[in-house]
Amino acid sequence: MEKSYVMVKPEFANYPQVIDYVKSQLQSVGMQIVKEGYIKYDALSARKHYAEHVGKDFYQGLEEYITSDKAYGMEVQGDDAIAKIRKLVGATKNPDPHTIRYEVPKMLNLPLRITQNVVHASDSVNSAERELEIFYTLLKK
Ligand code: ATP
Ligand code: MG
Repeated sequence: MEKSYVMVKPEFANYPQVIDYVKSQLQSVGMQIVKEGYIKYDALSARKHYAEHVGKDFYQGLEEYITSDKAYGMEVQGDDAIAKIRKLVGATKNPDPHTIRYEVPKMLNLPLRITQNVVHASDSVNSAERELEIFYTLLKK
């Protein structure tokens, strides 16, 4: 049993059908949603969440986006959760058809964008632990 943190990013979190779609995709590969809710990242929590990217050329735009509006966070668990969910989510650039990052913009008639890419999913067990701590703190606010 592995844990992951999945977050529907701002703008997309305003659409209940997107949240439902992401949840049904997760459940379709046997994932269980343990905790969920709307949260809002501030600059400090964004910097903690995206620590590995602070200082990169796209970081400022990433922080602006992730703090621009509420997001929807989920603690997810299941067998091989990290790899299974990353596969569902799709690549950062040029995601394949049938992935969440490809299908959701199509559903909403929005262009495929790199920074505004629908959803985050943890890339390792350690990242999941760190990101979930930030999520719990934001949920209490
Ligand atoms: P996430 O961490 O959000 O699940 P990811 O693991 O696919 O996405 P990362 O390399 O961790 O991708 O980048 C974090 C986020 O930063 C991306 O989801 C995207 O929003 C943004 N990003 C990454 N690379 C670029 C880039 N070259 N130009 C613009 N934005 C980028
Ligand atoms: Mg990442």
